[in-house]
Amino acid sequence: MCVRALSSLRYKDLQITLTKTPTRTSGDDHLKFGAHISDHMLEVDWTAEHGWDIPQIKPVSPLHIHPAAKVLHYASEIFEGLKAYRCVDGKVRLFRPREHLRRMSATAERACLPAFDQSEFLKCIQKLISVDQEWVPDSKNQSLYVRPTLIGTEPTLGVSASNKAKLFVITTPVGSYFAGGLKPFSLLADPKYVRAWTGGCGGYKMGSNYAPTVAVQKNALEKYGCQQVLWLFGDDHQMTEIGTMNLFIYWVNEQGEKELLTPSLESGLILPGITRKSVLELSRQWKEFYVTEGNITMKTFIKAWNDGRIMEVFGSGTASIVLPVQEICYLDQKFNIPTDTDTSLTQRLFNEITSIHYYSKPHHWMETL
Ligand code: PMP
Repeated sequence: MCVRALSSLRYKDLQITLTKTPTRTSGDDHLKFGAHISDHMLEVDWTAEHGWDIPQIKPVSPLHIHPAAKVLHYASEIFEGLKAYRCVDGKVRLFRPREHLRRMSATAERACLPAFDQSEFLKCIQKLISVDQEWVPDSKNQSLYVRPTLIGTEPTLGVSASNKAKLFVITTPVGSYFAGGLKPFSLLADPKYVRAWTGGCGGYKMGSNYAPTVAVQKNALEKYGCQQVLWLFGDDHQMTEIGTMNLFIYWVNEQGEKELLTPSLESGLILPGITRKSVLELSRQWKEFYVTEGNITMKTFIKAWNDGRIMEVFGSGTASIVLPVQEICYLDQKFNIPTDTDTSLTQRLFNEITSIHYYSKPHHWMETL
């Protein structure tokens, strides 16, 4: 009997159908995040029987999936979020795309969704962006957000691995969070809620981690006027993440040393952010202060705050790069944090990463199309 090998995802099979009605209008860049989807999408189907089908770039259109598809019932969905920038030399580059696709592969494995060839997939994504080049804003505080997504589409209601899946990518031009400079924000740390738990999926980027956070976020804003949630974990109220950002604390530690501290990934609670990794790598190269991945509880934080040892707190993530925290609300107390943005470490990191993004400082993290 002849057994046919499963097909892998191959860039050379890519088929392209262009839209007859392009919709890009230049200059309209006061954009609500993710509201303006570019003209084309990438779509590839997979079956357990045959493997990956032919990848296609085509005009954006609704997905054709059965109402019994597993994604609609059991959140069999994973995604990534990365950005392409129009650089100072006019070329379009992606920021650390291989890191994003590595994280996506790890998430796919955890979600029992199919593996894909990361470099072939990257070539397809690069082609998609070059097809929609005009959608990459020509502005130093804007970019094209790229959203690769993988869903389980088998139309059966059993809770089991999906024998059908769909991989697709859409893109959207996004404006800056920083039109008026680095705007500090406040956090609600309410120990009543957790985002992730030991042995769970906090360290992976899957849709099921996000839907349950929306009500908590809404409550933080409406009841307390806090823009983001600081997620705590455990009886000792460990500080873990901020909304959809990683957490950094720049302080003078108990030994009297300047230190940049971020929660460690070892617990599995925390998403291994690509911006987090970049902040750690850059600040370790500077060799100006200690850079540590370790745990910090609210009790340790409050002691340092009372001693006047907290210098800065900030979040890091693809959407915002770095964003300073001005206040933490916790158990009816408010802790104000200095945000002297001109001379801050947050501002320095923002400047450094921005000059890498737009290539005024050429860096191997950026990949051309
Ligand atoms: N934590 C969570 C929960 C997130 O959703 C994100 C955004 N992807 C981050 C941290 C930051 O990750 P990155 O720097 O890769 O965007």
